[in-house]
Formats: sequence, structure tokens, C-alpha cells
Amino acid sequence: MTAQVAASDLYPPVQQEVARLGALAEVRSVFEWFRTQESRFATWQMEVARIAAPPFGEAARGAWIADRFREIGLHEIQRDEVGNIFGVHPGYGSRYVALSAHIDTVFPATTPLNVRQQGSRLYGPGVSDNGAGIAAMLAVASALQDARIPHALPFVFIGNVGEEGEGDLRGMRHVFATPRWNHAIAYSIVVDGAGSDTVVAEALGSRRFEVIVRGPGGHSWSDFGAPNPIIALCRALDVFSQTPVPGSPKTTFNVGVIRGGTSVNSIPESASMRVDLRSTSMAQIDRLERALRSALDRAMEAENQATALHSPRKPQAVQCEVVEIGNRPAGELTPDARVLKVIRAVDAHLGNTAQVQRASTDANVPLSLGREAIAIGGGGSGGGAHTLQEWFDCNGRDLGLKRILLTMLALAGIGE
Ligand SMILES: [Zn+2]
Repeated sequence: MTAQVAASDLYPPVQQEVARLGALAEVRSVFEWFRTQESRFATWQMEVARIAAPPFGEAARGAWIADRFREIGLHEIQRDEVGNIFGVHPGYGSRYVALSAHIDTVFPATTPLNVRQQGSRLYGPGVSDNGAGIAAMLAVASALQDARIPHALPFVFIGNVGEEGEGDLRGMRHVFATPRWNHAIAYSIVVDGAGSDTVVAEALGSRRFEVIVRGPGGHSWSDFGAPNPIIALCRALDVFSQTPVPGSPKTTFNVGVIRGGTSVNSIPESASMRVDLRSTSMAQIDRLERALRSALDRAMEAENQATALHSPRKPQAVQCEVVEIGNRPAGELTPDARVLKVIRAVDAHLGNTAQVQRASTDANVPLSLGREAIAIGGGGSGGGAHTLQEWFDCNGRDLGLKRILLTMLALAGIGE
């Protein structure tokens, strides 16, 4: 479900504040700088995309980010235990506006990183997701360091690990589990991928399981009657797949992988499946998990009872193990959240049209904690994310950068 961004005149004070910021001479000169520095941004983007950063292997990229933060002149540059890189642009007040970009990719360490430029287009794995986000973070940090635009709250820039796949948002989770940052971050802006036409304000949660059913196995003829893990799994699926789900909040389930057995004339010793549960509501995900577990319990019982009838003298049983292989928290902004008013006002000011979306991003973590957070793109356009044919087009990057800068300044408030 998407909703058109509401007319900005709903929030006149925020709109006036954004217009005032947009008219500042310092801000106008940064806007011009965004336009003229495109080759620098593209160079950063290609450089970082050439450094492999598979999940749990982001250290080299982290070191590169820390070097750029140092060059730009950010303060308090730090690397935490999990590999997140922090840099601060000082202000007044103890709470921060955070701008983060994930530095990991989906690509294994052995992927050839053939990154190249043709005209306005950059090509290569990870060049947009999240090369575009990283370049935007560096561009905005650099502009703030050089331009001395008045603002109140300080900014923290975070190149974080572990957004993709099995990373399971571990970088962002760690940021919000750390006393230094947990309550110190007032607003989070997550820059993920290209574009200026979306605002992610709802965190799509997911929980994933590997289910393994084990039994004694045996010969299909001579051991007939022994419990069969494949049949037990199918019994469970038959029941679970009939679980009702609401259309709103949208809730889904999928069985994406099923495996088991070795040959047609053997009773299998094991069978397994991978299940994906999703919703913007944690309560719905919890409910689906309970339905899955209860379907499995009942199916194991039914399969074991059938066995007991066949061979009452040597009772054998199937057992089921449920392993959680992914867990991303759900959450959403309240309609009166300040960050939503600000991004809408900024879009109206820039003449930009954006749609509010739900997705799974680093913003899931603060949103699930009830904090104000959005995920937006780094400008330009891109495609082919998570493939070797990934591309980014620099045209319109400056719109995305202006959008990020104005949003950060409006959230930070004015320092007179
Ligand atoms: Zn991404």
C-alpha cells in the first residue's frame, strides 16, 4: 500500500522553516556545490564499490569510510565492536540527527567487482545499493563541514555493517543497543540506494525459520510404517497454509525451500523447509509463528500416532526442530511524526513527488523502538540491485542530496 505525500500546507510552520533554510546563502551555495562536484561523488562511489563487503566481511570498507570521514574533517571518528564507523559534525545539544548508510553488500567476497563509468552511468555490483547511499552520506557530511550552515543539534554520520540478508540489521541493532547512541539519536535518516521518489516510513518486519524433521529412516518395503519426515512436514504445511491472514496490516507467509530424502525406496531420515513470515505488525508475526509451531506439533503427533498403529511393538518417532534464521522487527511512524512532516515539507519545497512506502531497511530498528526514522534514496536513479548488472545514473543526484541536507537541517533546528 502506498499513499501520495500529503499537501505540505497541512504543516505551515515546518513549511516556512524549510523555505527559510532553503533561502539561506550558505544553503544555496551548497546546492550549487552539489551540482558542480558530481565527478567527486562518482569517484567516491566507484572507489567504495571496488572494495568487497560481503555480510560479516565489511572491515576493508569500514577502514575506507573512516579515511574519508577523516579527510572531510568529521570529529570523534570511531569504529565500534561490530565494525560500524561513526563521525560527528558538532552542534548544540546532547541529542543527534543521525544519517546512516549501510556499507555491506549481498555479494560474496569472490565476486568480480568490475566497476566502470560510461557517460552519466556507473555500472557494477553494489554501485547503487549502497554505493549511492555512501556517496550521498559523504557528500552531505562534506558540505556541512565546509559550509558552516547554522544549526542546533549535532549530526552523527554512520557507515553501518550488516543490513543485507543474513546480516539481519546487526549493525543498526548494535547502534541502538549501545548506551552511547541508544537515546542520543533523536532522528534517524537512513540512505539506502538511489532515487528521490520514496519515503520508507513503515518497517516491514520478517521472521524466518528453518524447520528440520528427523526420523529413524529405513527401507521403503521392509520398514514400512516407520514415521516419515517428509509426510510429517507435508501434514504440517497442509494445516499451516490454511492460517488466515489479514489484508491490513498486510501479513504474508511463504515456504520457499523444501528438501528431504535420498532415494525413492528409502524412508527419509530427515526433511526440512524454510519459512518466511512478514508483516508491519509484530503481533501478526507472533501469531503466525504460533500457528506454525502448533501445526508442526500436531503433525508430528499425527505422524507418530499413525506409526504406533502400524508397528505397536517398536515405537519410533519423528522429531521437529525449529531454528530461527532471520528476525527483522516491524514498526511504523505515527502520522504526526515530525520527521514525516519535515520530509513532506522538503519535498514540497523542492517540487519533488514522493510516495510513502513500507520496506525492510535499517530504519526497522529505530522504528521498532518507537523512534522517529525514515529511509530515503541518495538521489539519481538506479536498477539491477543485488545483480552483477547493477547500475546508477548520476542525473538528478543533486536533488537527492538537497533533500537529505534540508531534512537534516530542519530536524536539527536553527542555531541563531
Ligand atoms: Zn541497501
